[in-house]
Amino acid sequence: MIDLDRVVRDTPAAAHGVFLDSAGSSLPPSVVVETVAAHQRREAQVGGYRAAEERAADLAAVRTSLGLLLNVPVGTLALTDSATRAWTQFFYAVPLAPGDRILLCGVEYASNAVAALQRAAATGATVEYVPSDPTGQIDLDALAGMLDDRVRVVSLVHVPTNGGLVNPVREVVDLAHAHGALVLLDACQSLGQLRVDATALGVDALSGTGRKWLRGPRGTGFLYVRPGLVTALEPPVIDLFGASWTGRQSYALADDATRFELWESDVAGRLGLGAAVDYLLALGPDAVESAVTAHAATLRGLLAEIPGVTVRDRGVRRCGLVTFSVEGRDPAEVKAALRARDVTLVTTRRKSTLIDMTERGLEQFLRASPHYFLGPDQLATAARAVADLAR
Ligand SMILES: *Cc1c(COP(=O)(O)O)cnc(C)c1O
Repeated sequence: MIDLDRVVRDTPAAAHGVFLDSAGSSLPPSVVVETVAAHQRREAQVGGYRAAEERAADLAAVRTSLGLLLNVPVGTLALTDSATRAWTQFFYAVPLAPGDRILLCGVEYASNAVAALQRAAATGATVEYVPSDPTGQIDLDALAGMLDDRVRVVSLVHVPTNGGLVNPVREVVDLAHAHGALVLLDACQSLGQLRVDATALGVDALSGTGRKWLRGPRGTGFLYVRPGLVTALEPPVIDLFGASWTGRQSYALADDATRFELWESDVAGRLGLGAAVDYLLALGPDAVESAVTAHAATLRGLLAEIPGVTVRDRGVRRCGLVTFSVEGRDPAEVKAALRARDVTLVTTRRKSTLIDMTERGLEQFLRASPHYFLGPDQLATAARAVADLAR
């Protein structure tokens, strides 16, 4: 159980208005803000290098905390500046030859898709899309039919940016592995709201971001690469952190996942990410998952009762993203009108999840993502505000 009084005390801003954008960039707890600010102040006093040296143990602990959260060994993790950087560092490292196949999912995220298309054009591989089933989740039968030994990599988005569905991961991994294909899981929208055990899921790689449900700072992200696979891959971009210059014509890559990492980083942001992960671990990922799932179900129920409102979420299993349209109202206008009442949410557009939105004939709708730090009264307030606009 989440102690609402306590988490609101830890995040005073959560009590003001109704913040419904934890899927975009959440409100960090005070400990994250303080960790970042304190390190920046220290950098201003003694310089960034000395300040980082003073926090060497804490910086190492960021990886330990992430390892605990994902249930993976520390050496399988690379810290990055975004989930997209993590995703591309892995994806571009997968060897591809003419005729090789890349499978993307029906709710693929635009940044992943454009990278896959670019890579396919450069290597002669092809990009294909695994259809979604009538519930909206990845069609496992269709996937089984598409897999063959030319499929090198399957990209699966755990939770899409445009709705509350949760894709089945283990089933996809088992099917893909039977054909020797790698599975790269985009866990941007699941980590921090759902328990994600990368080892139990069996994925080959996973990308995540700090600022969304994890409540960490902007400009932070990370990559997990399964043990045993790390040393088989040559990262597309390296520097003196992931590799050492060993001679006139030689270099050696790090033998753990730091080979995917670059040297320069926002050290304060990384410490803040560690604080955010520790905060989540202390609350308990299961308690967070129950609270977020329940909040989203409540909000979805309230919205569904409003005449003129259509809830857009699909999927068998649903999580913290709540999407909807208001009949006859432009989503951008609804978003602005709600902001004027201090209800913060965003719109999600066709271009972000092109295949899914095009198939559903939708251009844009609203996305609300309530975190555990909201109270039931705030969800009711948000629904009342939407009802006023729907009239
Ligand atoms: C936000 C998001 C990303 C990208 O994360 P960044 O940290 O902005 O790179 C990738 N996939 C999904 C599903 C997302 O929602």
